[in-house]
Amino acid sequence: SETRKDNNPFPGLENYQITEKLGEGAFSTVHQALNLQTNEHVAIKVIKKQQLDQNQKQAVLKEATIMRQLSHDNIVKFVEFREVDQYYYIIQELIQGGEIFNEIVKFTYLSEDLSRHIIKQVGEALKYLHEEIGVVHRDLKPENLLFQPIPIIPSKVRKLRRSDDPNKLDEGEFNNGVGGGGIGIVKLADFGLSKQIWYDNTKTPCGTVGYTAPEIVKDEHYSKNVDMWALGCVLYTLLCGFPPFYDEKIDLLTRKVARGEYTFLSPWWDEISVGAKTCVKNLLTVDPNKRYTIDQFLSDPWLNEVQFKQPKKN
Ligand code: ADP
Ligand code: MG
Repeated sequence: SETRKDNNPFPGLENYQITEKLGEGAFSTVHQALNLQTNEHVAIKVIKKQQLDQNQKQAVLKEATIMRQLSHDNIVKFVEFREVDQYYYIIQELIQGGEIFNEIVKFTYLSEDLSRHIIKQVGEALKYLHEEIGVVHRDLKPENLLFQPIPIIPSKVRKLRRSDDPNKLDEGEFNNGVGGGGIGIVKLADFGLSKQIWYDNTKTPCGTVGYTAPEIVKDEHYSKNVDMWALGCVLYTLLCGFPPFYDEKIDLLTRKVARGEYTFLSPWWDEISVGAKTCVKNLLTVDPNKRYTIDQFLSDPWLNEVQFKQPKKN
């Protein structure tokens, strides 16, 4: 209708009704919107050109180019890219549940079963990115992990672990074999820092084998490992509610990371299984050559423990 059009502050998005704001970054705002022709709900990342230099503009185009190639259940689906005089728009499927980050805040920390449910799906996304597409994400963190919610049926909720803080909710878990804690499908978002390490889709590094420069071979070899490290940081955070490396002072933080100085802090880690800790350890390995690869991670024993007990048959 006319009013809707008038309320839409963004040129070039006239077929959308912009509703709420979903997120805000340094250079972008993400808005929920409804496609008035298809009734499809989307999330639109709006980037104002004015504040961007030439390199940053290139980076936005690259983000869209990378997203456009991706087709995986655990990655936010790209819908469309638009550009007008003042703005870039990256239009994506709407992920209703929001950030995993907020679930950690809400529940303090997550159970091993729910953490596994989440991190396994992130692993599947990375396997696809690394092995099928040749893209490293480079900005893996709970803020960039979104999820589709599944309803929690109170009668089926099994209380797992009680938070000491009475103001925090308890994480409930489904007993239906599908998922837990209201978190269904997990979707990796935000390809703003991602990098293509292959330049085509043929699963081979760019250039003729043997003629490829060392920096390309090295880049290809090392850069995937940065996602595996971040995966370890995310898993650590899911399990205990705080990140493995933290310091107010950036130089101290940098030193801790460089040395891989983290601990399984008591009492928060006391009840967490040896299997979960071993999985974290193998991801948070300083030497990138000894760090878990995506395939090693996906066959980790803890990751493959059966998580949701099926109800007994009569
Ligand atoms: P930035 O580069 O500013 O971090 P993101 O792509 O990470 O931009 O988006 C910022 C925030 O907007 C996300 O952390 C999330 O809360 C929200 N968001 C982004 N994409 C979607 C989406 N497809 N569905 C729902 N929320 C989204
Ligand atoms: Mg982000």
